[in-house]
Amino acid sequence: MSDCLFCKIVANEIPAEIVYETGRTLAFRDINPQAPTHVLVIPKEHHADAAALAQADDGLADEVLKSAHEVAVLDGVSEGGYRIVFNTGAGAGQTVFHVHAHILGGRDLTWPPG
Ligand code: C5P
Repeated sequence: MSDCLFCKIVANEIPAEIVYETGRTLAFRDINPQAPTHVLVIPKEHHADAAALAQADDGLADEVLKSAHEVAVLDGVSEGGYRIVFNTGAGAGQTVFHVHAHILGGRDLTWPPG
């Protein structure tokens, strides 16, 4: 999508600190980190949110989850525990409507989230 921020990151039109990439997914550091590890994992293909992704292509949803775990291993947070968050819909705090998994770790994470 031409006006989508994350599609522009995929197309190299906006810079991002890429930490992991597969054929169909991309992981980059969040510009406003909420934890020592705060990485976003996206499918390169545009889907608005997690529900749309799962309905369109469950294989791609699976690849996003596998990339999320790989990022946690690479960033050294897989042993200590980490959180995968898909804010889904504006009411849940989603602000960028290209599905993305937040990978958060490296500090104690409280529950429930705010
Ligand atoms: O779940 P939500 O849609 O609110 O998350 C969007 C995330 O994208 C925010 O955490 C924001 O900091 C991040 N972002 C980014 N790079 C941009 C624009 C937004 O990492 N260029």
